[in-house]
Amino acid sequence: MNLVTIKTFFYDHETILYEPTFQAEGIDYFLKDQKTIAIDPLVSNAIGGIKLQVREEDEDRARALVALIEANNSYSELGTVISVNGQKYEKTLDECPKCHSEEIYLYKQSFFEGLFKPFAKKPRYCNNCQHTWNVS
Ligand SMILES: [Zn+2]
Repeated sequence: MNLVTIKTFFYDHETILYEPTFQAEGIDYFLKDQKTIAIDPLVSNAIGGIKLQVREEDEDRARALVALIEANNSYSELGTVISVNGQKYEKTLDECPKCHSEEIYLYKQSFFEGLFKPFAKKPRYCNNCQHTWNVS
């Protein structure tokens, strides 16, 4: 198994942004030297930081994901996310055209849907009356 280093962190906590996203997208990752640096942050420089590594065959996907995480910091601002029919919806500011509730959630694309279908319509969902509609 060949591993490729795609990003280096100097502090243990920096990996927090990346780990859930890699998990959500199903990419296996390895954090080389994380334990050493968690115990003694001062050695980080000496050993070149924590290496985020993936399998060679996942390299392209993983690099695209890192680029997206870095370009899209809003991903770390976790809004309220609910699950509707197995899809994730995120709280948004809008009003239901049927019942005028403001409990409106916007369909949340995964990173790869965003990459390959950036202009796909994102349905809105009213958590009050279950009405679903598209905004063009
Ligand atoms: Zn409604």
